Amino acid sequence: MKYETKVLTTKYQKPDAYGALSMPVYLTAAFEFPSAKAMNDAFCGRSMDPSYARIANPTTTYLEERVRQITGAVSVTALNTGMAAIAYALTAVSGAGLNIVASKHLFGNSVSLLRDTLGTLGVEVRFADFTHLKEVEALIDDKTTALFFEVITNPQLFVADIKALSEIAHAKGVPLIADTTVVPFSAFRAVDFGVDIEVVSSTKYISGGGTGLGGLLIDYGKFDWSQSPSPALQGRTKRVGKKLAFTARVKTELVTNLGALMTPQVAYMETLGLDTLDIRFHRQAETTLWLAKQCQALPEIKRVNYTGLEENPFYELSKAQFGPLPGAVFTIDLASKEAAWAFIDRLQIIRRATNLFDRKSLAIHPASTIFGLFTPEQCAEMSVPDTTIRLSIGLEDGEDLLEDIKQSLK
Ligand SMILES: *Cc1c(COP(=O)(O)O)cnc(C)c1O
Repeated sequence: MKYETKVLTTKYQKPDAYGALSMPVYLTAAFEFPSAKAMNDAFCGRSMDPSYARIANPTTTYLEERVRQITGAVSVTALNTGMAAIAYALTAVSGAGLNIVASKHLFGNSVSLLRDTLGTLGVEVRFADFTHLKEVEALIDDKTTALFFEVITNPQLFVADIKALSEIAHAKGVPLIADTTVVPFSAFRAVDFGVDIEVVSSTKYISGGGTGLGGLLIDYGKFDWSQSPSPALQGRTKRVGKKLAFTARVKTELVTNLGALMTPQVAYMETLGLDTLDIRFHRQAETTLWLAKQCQALPEIKRVNYTGLEENPFYELSKAQFGPLPGAVFTIDLASKEAAWAFIDRLQIIRRATNLFDRKSLAIHPASTIFGLFTPEQCAEMSVPDTTIRLSIGLEDGEDLLEDIKQSLK
């Protein structure tokens, strides 16, 4: 079955008592059992029945199962935010005295998670430019627990060679963890490029319109965790086997102890989002490519950055990995910061807001907002100039959006 069919045909774990065609939302903290033995089995992992909603609830399990079937993963964990999914992934692999080699072009909160939060717990982070493979390779040693990067960086829109990165990682016995938020899994199969663990902010494309926050942690079950320097994963390997150690740590330790499992309300909305993900993505990405091309002809715009444009330095690599429509976000550069702010102030249709892949088009000035607390030197090091405006393109008519851009430039 193709993606579009598969996503609409995933069965519930158990038939609904009323045959509801839409997944019921199980708003309950606890579950009742017919006997002490059944309780014992559920609490000790010998049955699949949920014991308590911090650990599993049927609506969230259904979303996880749908994502598992369409991605071909061995396990999916749905969490309350994209940051929770990233925090779980990096916590599951690392530990005090070990290190993570990460891209220096990351979502701002991922940088501070690594540097500040995991840093104070004794995890060392080594930042590299992931478009320079030698730089990445040189930082890996026998205490390296993972490589972590974004498939298209935001807002720079840099693209790394994912297959080559995975070969470097696997040759050294290290898993590759990718944040794939910018290209949905209906368009990009991370596992085909050697990604071991995929993290996604489902707040973006999957929620289907910025209706709530969510994150997905996807394990393809390919990596041999007996190679990891983490004592926790070594221990798990002995109990559950080499391929399931990561998932076992996430599902039986982190979900229980860190407590950020996706709520059933959000899981319900995200299953609705999944239904229409592919069609929304195509429409939004087609408008993005068309608009980016139109913007190239406007003299006030000094630079248009979208990896789907043939002039883009990452065009070939982007096309080989993500196809002809690499996401629904592009950036433009104007002559100065003042020009960028004035442009944003004059927008009539495109909203002044952060977030990506809402159904509405959104504009933001990254240097003064998402990166507003970094120094100008740090922004320069991360390639975030103050002349850049990021545009996330929604479902509006493309001509209307172009008119809005033109009138705002005047
Ligand atoms: C938004 C975003 C996140 C964080 O996701 P939340 O759901 O807001 O926690 C992480 N990575 C990328 C690339 C993002 O765009």
